[in-house]
Amino acid sequence: MGNCTGTIGEQDHKRNIVEKSQRHSHISYREHNQQIQQRRSTTREKFDNTEWLNVTNLKPNEMDYVNHCPPQSSDQNLSNKVHGSMMGMAIGDALGASVEFRPREYLEQNPITNLQGGGTWGLKAGQWTDDTSMALCLAASLICQHGFSAYDQLVRYKWWWRKGYMSSTGHCFDIGKSTKQALDVFVRRQHEYNQDFTTLDLQEPEGFNTQCSQPDRQSNGCLMRLAPIALFFHRDAKDAVYYAGESARTTHGHQIAIDSCRLYAALICAALNGEKKNEILHRNFYQNHIQWFGSKPLDQEVSNIMKNTTYQRKGGYNDGIRGSALCIQSLQAALWAFWSDKNSYESGVLECVNLGDDTDTTAAIYGQLAGAYYGYKQLPPQWLEQIYAREFIKTISDWYESSKLPTVVSVHITNYHTKIGSRCATAQHDAVLIKLRSIYAMLVAVFDVGFDR
Ligand SMILES: [Mg+2]
Repeated sequence: MGNCTGTIGEQDHKRNIVEKSQRHSHISYREHNQQIQQRRSTTREKFDNTEWLNVTNLKPNEMDYVNHCPPQSSDQNLSNKVHGSMMGMAIGDALGASVEFRPREYLEQNPITNLQGGGTWGLKAGQWTDDTSMALCLAASLICQHGFSAYDQLVRYKWWWRKGYMSSTGHCFDIGKSTKQALDVFVRRQHEYNQDFTTLDLQEPEGFNTQCSQPDRQSNGCLMRLAPIALFFHRDAKDAVYYAGESARTTHGHQIAIDSCRLYAALICAALNGEKKNEILHRNFYQNHIQWFGSKPLDQEVSNIMKNTTYQRKGGYNDGIRGSALCIQSLQAALWAFWSDKNSYESGVLECVNLGDDTDTTAAIYGQLAGAYYGYKQLPPQWLEQIYAREFIKTISDWYESSKLPTVVSVHITNYHTKIGSRCATAQHDAVLIKLRSIYAMLVAVFDVGFDR
């Protein structure tokens, strides 16, 4: 474990940092986790110990996920859909990886029909790229934080960029321009807060601004990693939609990017809830689920994709569907593939890749929704077998249900929402969440009470 190595001098230095941060800070979630772990039985420790997800020098399939399996879900249908969404994304990513940036003309002459290695990144067949890596960073954050923390997400994206955390190769080989710019800003802000090294990487400084993107960023880097938000919060689709937008803001600040994520999270929630395809793709989907979107309406360009069914183009590429890097066009292409796939994930995901250009991301976005709708069992077994770190991804997916805040805290949050009457009071909302998490962590540490799982 990277954090446990080092010389005695370094360890003393780190101990000093911890002691200083304890004196100066509000609650360090990580340290409370450590305290909690020391007080728990072996069985319980497995549920609450999230340190195994903070290891940055191991590849995903080398992490100790085998000894940290959550309780098996009693809802096999839901589990099938959750696994389907995560693996649908990873397969799409891996299918498109070898031809990323290839134009349509190339793919017309050399269509992708199977997983293959080599090409753009020189990967092995089944290895995936930044889409799945960032989604796994997001997933790990939701699990470790028992909820949404933009700061923690950014720290993990930084680990991926600089240390290869959650990468299929052990290093970051492909980072989008908007994401890179946002992470540069994040690191600069961290250094501003961290000049005297009194805080730890994962400890959020008070007042830290996590919106690190320029307001004009509307590429698809926020949509390609979205699935964990919808899968984690789906039991309250309002939360899923709200946090989908917040998850985009860290790296992609344009309203179209934010609202593309809000809409797509709603569509994934609908698929998880068992809605039929004609309901999910209904021109009135937005109106039919308006209560999920709170008081902030969708950008018109985004809502028009559903309302005017602009993705329903039989000619596909020849009718203007593009596998471009723009969020709005990726959203449209993914919906087009879902609409025209004849109820076959295999058909839809290959159509996405063969659009050309941002092949892996178009397919990964389609895979999040199509995988949730069709389920893991409908994904081609020959592809599942080849996907890198398949069992790790499934274990991560199983943790969503097991790592949420306990009901008592959720009730307090809901009551608070009712009192302030708006889901969009972001700063107040997040402050309350942080406080509640801190109070809960203290209760667990002092009284040894915990999640009833
Ligand atoms: Mg990629």
